[in-house]
Amino acid sequence: MTEIQCPGCGLFHPSAGLQAPRGLAASGECSSASSLVLSAFYQPELVSERQYVVDAYACTHPDSSTRIGIQTTALCLMTLDLYLECGQSVAEGSQMHQEMMRGRPDFFTRLDPPSLQAVPTYQLFLGVPSANSTALACNWAERVWRAWATHHEQIRAWNQQLVPHRVHS
Ligand SMILES: [Zn+2]
Repeated sequence: MTEIQCPGCGLFHPSAGLQAPRGLAASGECSSASSLVLSAFYQPELVSERQYVVDAYACTHPDSSTRIGIQTTALCLMTLDLYLECGQSVAEGSQMHQEMMRGRPDFFTRLDPPSLQAVPTYQLFLGVPSANSTALACNWAERVWRAWATHHEQIRAWNQQLVPHRVHS
């Protein structure tokens, strides 16, 4: 069986000829496999934490070769900052992305991706009981955010510019 390596997280999956997701440096196979694992976050007791794993997955698959990829990385790092440093509700993550894009900002710049080798992949959720998933999701988001430390100032500045009402020190 042919295996395909994900260009983002490096995991190997059986090749199924799946199309890569838009805005992410991920194989279609990684995207599909991760969706199955992370679909646990659609359960009612976990859905409020779902954006933690959506954003963390995106920030472990940064695509800096396209405009949509650069924007996706920026927006997902910005919400990680707002959850972790500003106490914003993870349940409002999608809404915050909409607020960021309201004025159609086009100034996001490419952020040189850090080494993400020390950051776990979505597979850390395999076999985890849902009672433990919330804490694990928060921990994963924190580790992904810390991996991007060299860009924290830029990300905070974009939040200050686009969603100042969400920023609390
Ligand atoms: Zn991947």
